[in-house]
Amino acid sequence: MQYVSTRGTAPQIGFCDVLLAGLARDGGLYVPESWPKLEKFRGGDVATTYAQRAASIMAPFVGGEIDQQVFERLCVEAYSTFRNTEVAPLVEISQNEYLLELFHGPTLAFKDVALQLVGKLFDHVLAQRNERVMIVGATSGDTGGAAFDGVASCRNVDIVMLYPNNRVSDVQRRQMTTLTANNVHAVAVDGTFDDCQDLVKAMFNDQKFRDANQLSAVNSINWVRVMAQVVYYFTALEKLGRSAVFSVPTGNFGNVLAGWIAKQMGAPIDGFVVASNKNDILTRFFESKKMTANEVVPTLSPSMDIQVSSNFERLIFEMNNRDGIATAKQLVEFRSTGELNVAVGSYQKWISGVFVGRRCDDEDTLATMRDVYKKSGMLIDPHTAVGLSAARQSAGVDYPKEVPMITLATAHPAKFPDAVRRATGETPKLPEHLADLMSRPERSVSLPNDLKAVQAFVAGCRN
Ligand SMILES: *Cc1c(COP(=O)(O)O)cnc(C)c1O
Repeated sequence: MQYVSTRGTAPQIGFCDVLLAGLARDGGLYVPESWPKLEKFRGGDVATTYAQRAASIMAPFVGGEIDQQVFERLCVEAYSTFRNTEVAPLVEISQNEYLLELFHGPTLAFKDVALQLVGKLFDHVLAQRNERVMIVGATSGDTGGAAFDGVASCRNVDIVMLYPNNRVSDVQRRQMTTLTANNVHAVAVDGTFDDCQDLVKAMFNDQKFRDANQLSAVNSINWVRVMAQVVYYFTALEKLGRSAVFSVPTGNFGNVLAGWIAKQMGAPIDGFVVASNKNDILTRFFESKKMTANEVVPTLSPSMDIQVSSNFERLIFEMNNRDGIATAKQLVEFRSTGELNVAVGSYQKWISGVFVGRRCDDEDTLATMRDVYKKSGMLIDPHTAVGLSAARQSAGVDYPKEVPMITLATAHPAKFPDAVRRATGETPKLPEHLADLMSRPERSVSLPNDLKAVQAFVAGCRN
């Protein structure tokens, strides 16, 4: 299996190079040269473990570059860190309404599902090559902690994560700042998440800096993260035993894109509800066929406070019939004009009948959390609530009520205790391994929103 860049001019490379490269040299994102089909959808197959299923679903993407037995062992190791042996349990909350719980990993957000595996893969590939890398990334909150936890024990990795100062929750910040491993570095940037993301992109586009520091990325632009998220769409449907619609709380479009890929591979998915908070660039796009960027506004679901969804580029590439040059042109235009238009034909072919966008403001978020608590006694986090509100808006309108609707539960309620308390009056408890998180000593650096300052810091972090 070879990988091509969405911007058409970077060389084709294999799986292990894609893992380490993150962003392609032409500024694009890597995608497989074609979407593999799973031989047969194995509805109701529960004989294997999540890790075994994961290894077999992802095998075509690895393309033989890692021995399948070794790959399966890495999956087993990655998912042994989860507190629930099912890894991603499917829970029915009312008739035809389900949550897919993706928050049983070490840092309590769905990002662990991918980043625990990514850490194992980095360690394996770098040891084999006798190389060392510097991972740099931007986080709107959850990626940072999950990435740190994934790579803290890697021998050949240093990692710097930029986060928007004062815009992540206390739990999120502490999951980054309380690690004792000396290869992890949390940086509070005076700016928004999009500013942080721009700084990271600029570091990658500075070829000299990139090479001198062996830069690598584990943001959701890294293909391997998207790949790892494909798995739970399959396992959820296998457990359900029939087709369903997925409602996905969305920021960078990585998670919902993974679902779309599962569909390309043959998973029986009837469609996707792309759930946004007030930062609704995608909802507006699905309504108007035109993408226009706005200012980011802070909400109760901070991991979705994003305007420019970087993974959407992978879908735009498909909409351009995989023409990388056309995609690059469109994205450069979007950068300069703040506007991206899609041809009517390709919108109909790729979007209509597959994606709908729904938005949910903070009031709806709180109301949804309160409703679930009242009816079932269950506490859900604000991101999951955005997804569930969107699912409820969509059921019976975009899709028949009889179709099962699976909302991805992307974070543990204890990660966002203030919002949960506001909605329900209850304070969710942190799981045991994090019980003393709020009293652990913190370690972090503050930097201005300035490329030179950030580059100097990163260069100084290399071990
Ligand atoms: C990252 C995150 C999201 C958004 O996921 P994308 O893949 O960026 O769309 C939603 N919810 C939570 C809790 C997250 O951490």
